[in-house]
Amino acid sequence: MHPIDTLGRPIRDLRISVTDRCNFRCSYCMPKSVFGQGYRFMDRKELLTFEELERVAQAFVALGVEKIRLTGGEPLLRKEIERLVARLDAIAGLDLTLTTNASLLARKAESLRAAGLDRVNVSLDSLDDATFRAMNDANFPVGRVLEAIEVAAAEGLTPVKINTVVKRGVNDQDLVRMAERWRGTGHIVRFIEYMDVGSSNGWRMDDVVPSAEVVRRISARWPLAPADPNYQGEVAERWRYVDGAGELGVISSVTQAFCSTCTRMRLSTEGSLYTCFFAQSGHDLKSLLRSGASDEQIRNEVAAVWQRRADRYSEIRTAETAKARKVEMSYIGG
Ligand code: SAM
Repeated sequence: MHPIDTLGRPIRDLRISVTDRCNFRCSYCMPKSVFGQGYRFMDRKELLTFEELERVAQAFVALGVEKIRLTGGEPLLRKEIERLVARLDAIAGLDLTLTTNASLLARKAESLRAAGLDRVNVSLDSLDDATFRAMNDANFPVGRVLEAIEVAAAEGLTPVKINTVVKRGVNDQDLVRMAERWRGTGHIVRFIEYMDVGSSNGWRMDDVVPSAEVVRRISARWPLAPADPNYQGEVAERWRYVDGAGELGVISSVTQAFCSTCTRMRLSTEGSLYTCFFAQSGHDLKSLLRSGASDEQIRNEVAAVWQRRADRYSEIRTAETAKARKVEMSYIGG
């Protein structure tokens, strides 16, 4: 059975948040003012185990999911994450990727690849060391991320995609430099509009640099032309350099909502299902998993959640909805 939601969308992608912990404190995601010393992260027993995650993944694949992305928090902080990768890799026909801040990637790229990981997305907001250290608020140097990208590429976790969240007045002065760094390397940079996820980042529309502006600014230096999507429902809009130096992407969830083609479900660290980034509540799957339910019951439950889905938050976003209490990205998985 391949379920369809109330707006006719199939389910194709699953994002799994494997930990709510992160070693960075990016102000737009896990600001120290909220996620400081006293913040209580989840207990290990609250997290879904690798066995449980494998079971859930199998249910999703039976329902039409073709791609799973591991995320968090920082997924490489989850102990023995390679064991989970290996279990998921054993499920036939699955594209398996991971999003990371790359702080531990140089060390783990080889074992992740050996376990069956296909690709990585690396988050990197600036090439300027001072700006980068300020944005990650953990004083982490940019050089180590750059090194990790090369290690990951050498291991075959390619193409490496580099995710850059653009915040006006914070790192948008680096846009052209960022494009220049990755042009012609085979790595693909994607500029992401700063979003009003969660409730702790103090989001304002004025901080958003619209993707159209990003494309205009880079195109003024190296002309860009639109490229066709790789597949239906692709989040990033692709642009190629006219001079043949490869491509970049822009992700415009604020200025050009793509809810109508959204085929993603998210599984939070403690096993709740979310059909939207901007959801205010999830659907508990862990209780069912831990109550001795059969595979068929799990499949039916996931299918039922998807079939009820009616959200299209980004299409109806207003200044008022942006203020509503929403689940944090580190918990639901970015
Ligand atoms: N720790 C991993 C990492 O750094 O990639 C995975 C989790 S992180 C939440 C996933 C992605 O979400 C990162 O690329 C991050 O920059 C992005 N992100 C977090 N908060 C965001 C926001 N408010 N707007 C846009 N992107 C955001």
